[in-house]
Amino acid sequence: MAKIFNIFGNVYVFKGVIIIDTYNLFINGEWRKGKKEEYFPSVNPFNQKEWAKITQASAEDVQDAIEAADKAFELWRNVNGKERAKLLNTFANLLEENSERLATLESLDNGKVIRETLTQMKFAVRNYRFFAGYTDKIYGKTIPLDNNDLFNYTKREPLGVVALITSWNSPISILTNKLAPALATGNTVVIKPSEQASVTTLELAKIIDEAGFPSGVVNVVTGDYRVGNELTQTDRIQKVSFTGGTETGKIIAKNSGANLIKNTLELGGKSPNIIFEDANLNAALAGAMAGIFGASGQTCIAGSRLLVQESIYESFLDQLVAKASNIKLGNPLEKETEMGPVANEKQFKIIQNLIKEYGGKVVLGYKDFEDQLGQLKKGYFIPPTILAPVDNESTIAQNEIFGPVLCVIPFKDENDAVQKANQTKFGLAAGIWTENVKKAHRVANRIQAGTIWVNTYRTTAAQAPFGGFKSSGYGKERGVEALYEYTQVKNVMVNLSDDQRDPFSIQN
Ligand code: NDP
Repeated sequence: MAKIFNIFGNVYVFKGVIIIDTYNLFINGEWRKGKKEEYFPSVNPFNQKEWAKITQASAEDVQDAIEAADKAFELWRNVNGKERAKLLNTFANLLEENSERLATLESLDNGKVIRETLTQMKFAVRNYRFFAGYTDKIYGKTIPLDNNDLFNYTKREPLGVVALITSWNSPISILTNKLAPALATGNTVVIKPSEQASVTTLELAKIIDEAGFPSGVVNVVTGDYRVGNELTQTDRIQKVSFTGGTETGKIIAKNSGANLIKNTLELGGKSPNIIFEDANLNAALAGAMAGIFGASGQTCIAGSRLLVQESIYESFLDQLVAKASNIKLGNPLEKETEMGPVANEKQFKIIQNLIKEYGGKVVLGYKDFEDQLGQLKKGYFIPPTILAPVDNESTIAQNEIFGPVLCVIPFKDENDAVQKANQTKFGLAAGIWTENVKKAHRVANRIQAGTIWVNTYRTTAAQAPFGGFKSSGYGKERGVEALYEYTQVKNVMVNLSDDQRDPFSIQN
């Protein structure tokens, strides 16, 4: 992989491309300074170095971005599907060309290991291409009525200006889940990335510009929660699509609900990953590891409650601890690194405190990684941590930790597994590991979650819909379902006869 060179101050060069430290706002196709010219730093969680400066948008900047998106809507909604597809495919090609650069920047910004950010960029490209394929296939229906003189059809129309608010854990992937269907269906957008990791969203806006999207179709405003508040407390937008914490999701639902603005909310989870005694245990071990230690556990779909059948509990736990104790921590930019730091200081402190406050047995944790951690003092590293056995009703088993901390919970039989799996306010995802196909489908039927994986975990596809049940949110991302989230149905009824209607009765 090409190296990033720090040439002076906060200016870097990567494969001949200079990465400048200060990012402005992207409004109406222009890079603008914020009205108040306030900035905040982006901090690399591996070494705590400030490496980019991001603009704190003011309320006026946010309103300007909404205005630009609103003006662009009339134009963009009338660009035909063929042309929208062309632009989305051009953009996907440019994104592909820039994927190594963007993956590197994302790893610098949030500490996620390069092997994952590279995969995520590929997935993003695939997603834009998937939705490009739908731009000219957003069909309505013709609906036969009782009266043959009436011709009735429906159309799916775009909503208008959509606010896309994203989190720091996977900025490009999460944005893609929203931006690709929103643009494919003819909406215009104002994006607000997390203040903790805004760089790749801003870099993506440069590529949007290069691809030739009309000015104002995509706008990016950066800054903290105040920007999100300004963006969601208005009736000048038609929808908010949000990924982040459940508590923030509730605030957004309340704020936007006051103006009857629609929401798609992709929130937190505490997903059960269930290992039955008849599972392929080697595969299940790898799945348990991927579920919680991939992305340092900072993923809404983390398999953070590992339910293990009592008959195999001890031996499975021993093998899991042995495997997890070999995880290589390190610089996210190095290919051999398996786990990087957590994304920011706030998250680091929250997780450390949760582990300290936990009164039960820690079977793998800090003491087992002292040597490795000794070399990595400047980074926000939480080592792979396994707590076992954990009571399913305890606070640690019920609250989202968003870090590499696994609660291992024994269960007796199928009914007990289902009951424990569902005993949570969340309903985002679940894993089932068994070689018994009947049992797999029975359990999949009974689990209250939007995504069920059987004999796999954290596997995604552009075609497969994703979204939570219960407190994990509502609405779907990816797949054809996502198109419905960004369109509204219009019904058109046409009288084909010349008969005069009776003005004093409803006609059918
Ligand atoms: P938040 O939910 O606070 O933030 C997500 C996004 O919402 C950010 O862009 C944030 O801005 C913005 N935001 C914050 N407050 C408001 C508001 N009132 N109105 C509109 N937008 C707002 O997540 P955090 O990043 O603080 O993480 C907190 C917890 O959320 C994590 O510990 C984890 O449990 C969970 N989480 C879940 C994710 C998921 O994938 N479902 C992803 C990330 C976090 P800003 O941060 O810039 O202030």
